[in-house]
Amino acid sequence: NLQDTYTLNNGVQMPGVGLGVYKADDGEEVTSAVRTAIDHGYRLIDTASFYGNERGVGEGIRESSMNQNDIFLTSKVWNDEQGYDETLRAFEASLGRFGFNNLDMYLIHWPVPGKFKETWKALERLYDERVIQAIGVSNFHKHHLEDLMKDANVKPAVNQVEYHPHLSQGELKPFCDKHDIRMQAWSPLKRGKLFDEPTVADIAREHGRTPAQIILRWDLQTGVATIPKSTNKERIVENADIFNFELSEHDMTRLKNMNIDDRTGPNPDEMF
Ligand code: NAD
Repeated sequence: NLQDTYTLNNGVQMPGVGLGVYKADDGEEVTSAVRTAIDHGYRLIDTASFYGNERGVGEGIRESSMNQNDIFLTSKVWNDEQGYDETLRAFEASLGRFGFNNLDMYLIHWPVPGKFKETWKALERLYDERVIQAIGVSNFHKHHLEDLMKDANVKPAVNQVEYHPHLSQGELKPFCDKHDIRMQAWSPLKRGKLFDEPTVADIAREHGRTPAQIILRWDLQTGVATIPKSTNKERIVENADIFNFELSEHDMTRLKNMNIDDRTGPNPDEMF
């Protein structure tokens, strides 16, 4: 069910499915999506300083049927906020916008060259001070993780990266598995570009499920946490209703064979 969690490498429990809110407006749009998701069983919300909607996310959590303590809230430090002092300040600013005193997870949004190691030191400090339960990264390739871990005192708990049947991260996934870094899928639905793929459509028909549910179920069965975005109530409910069926080994192979290493977002190596 929706409370199914992964145990991160520091012992913290993280729900496998959450709501992503990129491009949801910082007003009634994001507040109502967050409230609706929580009231329908979601226990993880993924936002970022860059999304400009932390205020509305905090409001949605307060308006929901649950307490902040019951919700796993993630935010991220943006590229122009990186560096040691800058990150400490950015974190305080995020907390202020949420209206909370602590966060469950804080991620380095992108590996800004020459900056991300100092940024990590700030995250380690906040983690030691226990104002964040888990610290991690996003958009890190294997070589970024190797570089970071050479000097790190705390291993990243999570690497949030683009992941879907067209980009199944053949190099990064085994590396993360080996180091017990949980992968979390962003744009798990490739922003809607996979629903007409014959393989996805066929498997959906065979299970009497929607294409979105097939893709999100594939995430979980490959051991990857997932954060599909929607602000539409029916789709929010649909995207989390993936705990009462199972894809067969044959289905999993067919979905795996869809990989074409194709991104909908930028390649972290070409971003800077
Ligand atoms: P997504 O793959 O989750 O696709 C979202 C879009 O798919 C929605 O706008 C909607 O139009 C459509 N959709 C959703 N559910 C549907 C359904 N059941 N049926 C039909 N259409 C449906 O893309 P995303 O928003 O880019 O990614 C999800 C979340 O990942 C973001 O909101 C954000 O929280 C996170 N993210 C992180 C990074 C990063 O750099 N760390 C980058 C992009 C996104």
